[in-house]
Amino acid sequence: MLRRCFDPTLSYRAVLYLRMSSDLQNKRSPVQQEAEIRQRIKSLGYDWRIVKVYRDDAKSGRLLRNRLGYQRMLREIKSGKVKADLILVDTLERFGRVDELPTIRKELYERHGVLVLTADSSFTDPTSPQGRALGMVESMRANEHGRILGHNVLRGKRDTARQKHWPGGYSPFGYRLQSVMKTERGREVVDYSTLVPNPKTDWIIKLLFEKAIDSGWGTARLARFLNEHRDIPADLKPFSQNAIGYWLDNPIYFGTLRWEHHVTGIVDDMRVSEKNKPEDVLIVPEFCEPLVDRDLWERVQALREARRPRRLEPDEDGKKIEAPAPGLSVNYLLSGLVYCSECSLRMQISSTGEYTNSEGEKIRYVYYYCPRSRIGICHNKLHVPETRLREKVIQTIRERLFSKSK
Ligand SMILES: [Zn+2]
Repeated sequence: MLRRCFDPTLSYRAVLYLRMSSDLQNKRSPVQQEAEIRQRIKSLGYDWRIVKVYRDDAKSGRLLRNRLGYQRMLREIKSGKVKADLILVDTLERFGRVDELPTIRKELYERHGVLVLTADSSFTDPTSPQGRALGMVESMRANEHGRILGHNVLRGKRDTARQKHWPGGYSPFGYRLQSVMKTERGREVVDYSTLVPNPKTDWIIKLLFEKAIDSGWGTARLARFLNEHRDIPADLKPFSQNAIGYWLDNPIYFGTLRWEHHVTGIVDDMRVSEKNKPEDVLIVPEFCEPLVDRDLWERVQALREARRPRRLEPDEDGKKIEAPAPGLSVNYLLSGLVYCSECSLRMQISSTGEYTNSEGEKIRYVYYYCPRSRIGICHNKLHVPETRLREKVIQTIRERLFSKSK
């Protein structure tokens, strides 16, 4: 199920689209394209399920009407015969002509909740700087019709949740869904689902909370702890820092449903996604069997609160605007554009605390790093200084734009 915020760590359902291309710039057979896409998913560690592969082998594929595989794919996705969140291609040119791409992409996203992502951009998040150019999210938000429909879906789901029935979407890690059946016109159908502990994973959540309180560690070390844990099967790994933080903050683990995040539903063959307003956050105590007791959960929360970086108080007589502190999200020029050379994951920004150098200036060292290296699943320990990389990139762009040789 697609969320408004594209989160590659979710177990999305994907279809592949492969096309023989006659263009000389990028000659790659459908077999190579498929290998490339699968390899990239694997190297990024995404848990995406490929539910179907479509291909067009004829070289005459420049005209959409001649591309039967492509047409079948759109038909099956639009009719709901194939349920997918993502269409993956090796490069965007493979998908369609550049001038018609934005329209097709927009329609797929808005009407069918399907994103078109490319392996050559490491499946870039459509809400990132590059992806934002497509303006898909904005136009979705502006779609009043979709908003009203979404609201009705929301109301139905809230009623479901109040009855302690799972409102839809993936079950939280550590739980699984149990379906309660009913008979409708002589057929057995699912009436509703409830959350029950999953014996394959519930112990990992307990272990995580106990480790968090015993060690006082942050999410990076906790993720590494789970990733290196011998009793945890490999198919559940790797655990990301984000997932760990999300789990530690989720009250579902002491049995309370806090329903505030994105919700989606299908209305009139259209997938609608809405974010709840703060006043609409629904709390349902005793929603399911707890995995940890409430006291432990609250102690872990207190610990996490204490670890959160604080904003510095502004100087009494000096500057009122502080430089960005670690943990605050700021956009650096190259944010979202720097990739790890080892594992292809997008690198993140971090910084040291503020210190005073020999000239008495207060400074902070800001650098890019691979988030996987901190959780023990990538060997790239490199810290790339933000200023140096930025200057180098700007210099290179300048040289290319203004060089006299061309
Ligand atoms: Zn890496």
